[in-house]
Amino acid sequence: MVLYLATICFAAASLMLPAAAKAAPGVNEDQRLEKFKKLFLNYYWRINPVDAIYTGYHRYDSLLVVPDAKFFNFQRTTLKMLGDSLKTYEVTKLSPNMRTDYYLMRDKVESMLWYINEYRDYEWNPASYNVGGEFAEILNSRFEKLDARLRILLSRMKNIDAYYRAAMANIKNPVIEHTDLAILQNEGSLDVFGQQLEDSLKVSGLSLSEKKMFRERMGLAKESISTYIEYLKNIRKNQTVDNSRSFRLGKELYDAKFRFDIRSGYTAEQIYKKALERKEELLVNMAVVSRQLWSKYMGDAPIPDEDKSMIRTIIEKVSETHVHRDSFIQSIEKQIPELAAFVNDKNLLYLDPTKPLVVRKTPPYMEGGGAGASISSPGPYDPGGNTYYNVSLLTDYTPEKAESYLREYNHYMLQILNIHEAIPGHYAQLVYANKSPSLIKSILGNGAMIEGWAVYSERMMLEEGYGKDAPEMWLMYYKWHLRSVCNTILDYSVHINGWSEKVAVKFLTDDAFQQAAEAEGKWRRVKLTQVQLCSYFTGYTEIYDLREELKAKMGKEFDLRKFHEKFLSYGSAPVPYIRELMLNDLK
Ligand code: ZN
Ligand code: ZN
Repeated sequence: MVLYLATICFAAASLMLPAAAKAAPGVNEDQRLEKFKKLFLNYYWRINPVDAIYTGYHRYDSLLVVPDAKFFNFQRTTLKMLGDSLKTYEVTKLSPNMRTDYYLMRDKVESMLWYINEYRDYEWNPASYNVGGEFAEILNSRFEKLDARLRILLSRMKNIDAYYRAAMANIKNPVIEHTDLAILQNEGSLDVFGQQLEDSLKVSGLSLSEKKMFRERMGLAKESISTYIEYLKNIRKNQTVDNSRSFRLGKELYDAKFRFDIRSGYTAEQIYKKALERKEELLVNMAVVSRQLWSKYMGDAPIPDEDKSMIRTIIEKVSETHVHRDSFIQSIEKQIPELAAFVNDKNLLYLDPTKPLVVRKTPPYMEGGGAGASISSPGPYDPGGNTYYNVSLLTDYTPEKAESYLREYNHYMLQILNIHEAIPGHYAQLVYANKSPSLIKSILGNGAMIEGWAVYSERMMLEEGYGKDAPEMWLMYYKWHLRSVCNTILDYSVHINGWSEKVAVKFLTDDAFQQAAEAEGKWRRVKLTQVQLCSYFTGYTEIYDLREELKAKMGKEFDLRKFHEKFLSYGSAPVPYIRELMLNDLK
């Protein structure tokens, strides 16, 4: 979580909550909680104003909140009150569906307090300060006409200087890697306050005096951002590995972050051990498939004694089937309708044909995190907005780097990537989450459930016959799945066991058969994030196990499409809570 910051109406927070916590006679516990949920979200957006923008809740957009001590105290006070109110409910009297919402709110209060009081990334992560993304988000959202959005931005620009001054006051001994990222991303934001806003301003109906003021504030915004970049570059000059805070989280913070972010039935260490086991299973499967493919690709050449060497040889050969760098984004665009057709033909899941998925190149302010493709969703408050499939363009790659990347995302792998990111992975799941009758579940989404669903859908598609059971497709699937498994092993080993870059990159290239570009990107990502890389394998494990559990319990009654639609209907709740609800419905 990036710490997002805001200040709206400090005083109001203390007035309303105690009344809401009192039960009126004759009102049942569900009805009380239903009312409280609205109040909870109202305060939640006040203490998470930037998340509000990305979720499509635009009420507070015109005010950029300054991340100072006053605001942190407002967050603490509000969270304490929300937590105290939640304690007045009798959980056993709540219906199962409301109980999940209750857990989600309780969990969120608990984890936000931990982030503010213990994790404190606003002190060591300079990349948590960057206004470019949210300005671009407001500019590109369709919740208002362009002129109205520009007037909101005109007002929002007022606090940019105070925002960056507070940022500089908060920062203490920052992590080198996050300092570098902050410089890169804030440099990207200069473009938002340059060409991007200027292009929109030109075609707007704003008056001449408004346009003049707008351009003045754009100029000041760029100055503030540049001052911040200079400040970070100065810090950076004196930073060494020995005198700076390490990007490695260490066991205590890591275990806690795993508990708060993943909300799994397992501990970090248990999942790490499961991942080690799964890795061995996958290597066995890969050896079987590679042996099948040997003569097709290698003719009479002798099969190597060592399985890993045989697997690597076949992967190398199969990876040669890839698109040209210039048609990378077009080939993704072409494949989306083909995946939708398969899901429909096989009756796997209802896909809403009215929700378009727009493939676009990743905007500059979103680059630098190390991921090649991602989904940006409009969120539950903006059902008409576009869902974007962000794809990194390879334009500034050297020929060698592009070749390495394209071999990694070869003909087979690109299809698995599209299953994961788009259909029936993230994109399909997000459309369902936004339709969930519970706003709480849609908003307080659980990353492990979201990533777990995408990873689960890969295996499910292949099991249902996608790719016509081609051994090449299975080989690439195993390799891709091995990546989720190794993400978990890597994250745990780097943050807790102190793996060096050399050890990590060797692990990814030798044990997970990754190309150099992919392994280096992953090393970059493991330094900038913590725990998130475990979400894929943890969520997948819990979803797959739940499906098999229900199959065993329901026998002939089990229907795959119904399972998928029901599983997704709860919104992005932690899998253990969805499991509780689905098992409850069997009774
Ligand atoms: Zn090639
Ligand atoms: Zn994903």
